[in-house]
Amino acid sequence: MKTINDLNLENRKALVRVDFNVPLNDDLQVTDTSRIAAAAPTVKKILDNGGSAILMSHLGRPKAREKEFSLENIVGEVSEILGVEVKFVHDCVGPEVEEAAANLRPGQVLLLENLRYHPEEKEGDKDFAQKLARLGDVYINDAFGTAHRAHASTTVVAQFFEEKSYGLLLAKEIESLEKVLGSSKKPVTAILGGAKVSTKITVIENILDKVDHLILGGGMTYTFVKAQGGQIGDSLVEDDKQELALKILESARAKGVQVHLPVDAVAADQFSETAQTKVVPVAEIDQGWMGLDIGPESRDNFGAIIRQSKTILWNGPMGVFEMETFAQGTIAVGEHIAAATSKGAFSLVGGGDSVAAVKKYNLQDKVSYVSTGGGAMLEMLEGKSLPGIEAIKS
Ligand code: AMP
Repeated sequence: MKTINDLNLENRKALVRVDFNVPLNDDLQVTDTSRIAAAAPTVKKILDNGGSAILMSHLGRPKAREKEFSLENIVGEVSEILGVEVKFVHDCVGPEVEEAAANLRPGQVLLLENLRYHPEEKEGDKDFAQKLARLGDVYINDAFGTAHRAHASTTVVAQFFEEKSYGLLLAKEIESLEKVLGSSKKPVTAILGGAKVSTKITVIENILDKVDHLILGGGMTYTFVKAQGGQIGDSLVEDDKQELALKILESARAKGVQVHLPVDAVAADQFSETAQTKVVPVAEIDQGWMGLDIGPESRDNFGAIIRQSKTILWNGPMGVFEMETFAQGTIAVGEHIAAATSKGAFSLVGGGDSVAAVKKYNLQDKVSYVSTGGGAMLEMLEGKSLPGIEAIKS
């Protein structure tokens, strides 16, 4: 793996793709700075090694140059987190930007305007990428969240550099995923939840070759339960995926993977925090009721498997955890993972909703690694190579 340690940074300008796609409130203030903090070690490393950093990122999905998508909104936070005064330019390519980059001295940081103000960014336009490349001597990609996109700044730009590497964050992401996917620390357990089977099928198929246990929870459970002849009431189901669910179970059996489905569910009479609820066997849910969380027996069953695992991957909540009434399954799984981790297991949590759950219940410091990229992580779990990662290798 090409790391930042392989680069000579002294008196050089590092063009760094970061993921500063942070949430802003109506007053255009940053409400969660974790993505900025996640990129800070790489920037500090560049500065400590005698270089300067030119930071480029996208923010949201601008259609034109709308003010709410300007990276100028976050200059204060970036300066504060990095501990240096960050300079800002009102574009990411062009003469004014080139001049600002040329004037940068070692130890200084320049933040460019939103890359997506230019449609060429997402189009992966080569000329645009070349204009970006003019700004730096070396290229560093530290944006895992967009590593699965072949955009100008994440992929295309890399071909214009002799010297390039992953940043510290991206390196850690790759290392953590490889630790899980290629792990010899057995038993390896993958816990998959979330709404739909359809979005996780390729992941399930790919990881069957790599895990000893597969725990399934969340809305996707009911497609499996129904396919096996269970009665699921009004629970979420993808009828056209029933056959596939059976094939997955068959394939798991053939590969010696133990699949664990919930045995009970917290059923509700409506999709609401204030619904009437009851705990029922997962395959005996009446019409008019829907399973919105795993039940207590399932929590215990899953807990027993998780606690004896040495390598754990978690993607997707066990229930509709956004509503307190249906959060118990997700909380329990998070806590069992934390307990296994404290006994030496390696645990990786990824995917927007499981990361949100881990943060909500203050478990982020009790698991080994929390991934910053939902889509990128899923694609790696699907066994795909990511263009942003390949571009650094080639
Ligand atoms: P995903 O993006 O596929 O990981 O799905 C995450 C979403 O799945 C969350 O918003 C959960 O509320 C939802 N979810 C989890 N369990 C269920 C369930 N039993 N029924 C409906 N939605 C669920």
